[in-house]
Amino acid sequence: MIIILLGAPGSGKGTQSKRLADRYGYQHLATGDIFRAEIAKKTTLGLKAQDYVKNGKLVPDAIVTEMVAGRIDAKGKFLLDGFPRNLEQAQALDSMLKKDGVTVSLVCLLALDSAEAIRRMSARRICSQCGAVYNAATAPPAKDGVCDACGGAVVQREDDTEATAKKRLMVFDDLTQPLVAYYRGEQIFEEVDANQAPEKVEAALAAFIEAVGAKS
Ligand SMILES: [Zn+2]
Repeated sequence: MIIILLGAPGSGKGTQSKRLADRYGYQHLATGDIFRAEIAKKTTLGLKAQDYVKNGKLVPDAIVTEMVAGRIDAKGKFLLDGFPRNLEQAQALDSMLKKDGVTVSLVCLLALDSAEAIRRMSARRICSQCGAVYNAATAPPAKDGVCDACGGAVVQREDDTEATAKKRLMVFDDLTQPLVAYYRGEQIFEEVDANQAPEKVEAALAAFIEAVGAKS
């Protein structure tokens, strides 16, 4: 069983993925975590990926796909978070899975209005000392600008300004539209309104996951 969660930055995809994977016994495969693990273990793929990461380049689709698909087997239950990122990766994943007689069961997009996505991304704050993440709108530190955990200064990263947020969103939309069209064509695509409260988003996702589970 393979479920893919797609979501704009700020949609809460990472948090939802973790919660749902735990709740339904799926293995949570997040691209970022896999990269870090492979690089730390100095695997062949990890070393290849590291060269790109070091030079500030995107890791090529073939390497990313091999890293993720290498962790999937026909018997397990997997929830993919952050992969596939584009149409090329989706097609590569399908052809790798086909060899094992596996197909993707469900693709859910956490859809978020652009204005809301930008608002959420711009509200992100981070502790300059320990890296704890806060949100000026929804989860501020108890004392303004001071980290709850270590007392360090809580700041806005250059990455999290409105201009950068807009750019990230444009890149996401460009990559995701063809991906959505592809999975719609496969008739395994569903959409959830991520502007809602997190509990409602989780309930909507849970209903789709349960429906797929009941079919298998
Ligand atoms: Zn801190």
